[in-house]
Amino acid sequence: MAFELPDLPYPYDALEPHIDAETMRIHHDLHHGAYVTNANAALEGTDLADASVESVLTNLDSLPEDKRAAVRNNAGGHANHSLFWQIMAPDGGGEPGGALRSAIEDTFGSFEELRTAVNDGGVKRFGSGWTWLVWDGTGLSVYSTPNQDSPILQSDVPLLGIDVWEHAYYLKYQNKRPAYLEAWWNVVNWPEVERRFAEAHN
Ligand code: MN
Repeated sequence: MAFELPDLPYPYDALEPHIDAETMRIHHDLHHGAYVTNANAALEGTDLADASVESVLTNLDSLPEDKRAAVRNNAGGHANHSLFWQIMAPDGGGEPGGALRSAIEDTFGSFEELRTAVNDGGVKRFGSGWTWLVWDGTGLSVYSTPNQDSPILQSDVPLLGIDVWEHAYYLKYQNKRPAYLEAWWNVVNWPEVERRFAEAHN
């Protein structure tokens, strides 16, 4: 079955004032919508036309060479944005708890150090991309990726990712990417990130 654009799990204005309604509408309906349309077009008629997005991203080599870039970008965009809407919430923010918090403290020293590392990855990403907290199979890791490259490409499990494409923040923050990254933590949905961590490492 072809990919479908998932509904936003909250209204467009639910993340105000940190992320404005117009940005959310354009980002979800138009940008994510285009990734879905373009991924489906690129996969049509291939062996992966009915595969899950995870399976598509870990089997790019099985596609005809002339399809790989379009699928990497657009199926990657679909996977990244599907995660992004879920790991934000109107009543978000605060700090992580439970097993995830312990793992963060073991790996990075403190939650504050994790946040600094994630923001740093986003600020230093030249051009468009994402900054991630992932489960790499043995532990937590922070890195950034260019374009719509998903951690799934290297078989990592994305737990939290911040979109640093200009389309994610430009209407409200213009060129101030660091201010957007700072504000983003007010909408992080820790229960969902903790759930993804439990699912990944158990
Ligand atoms: Mn985006």
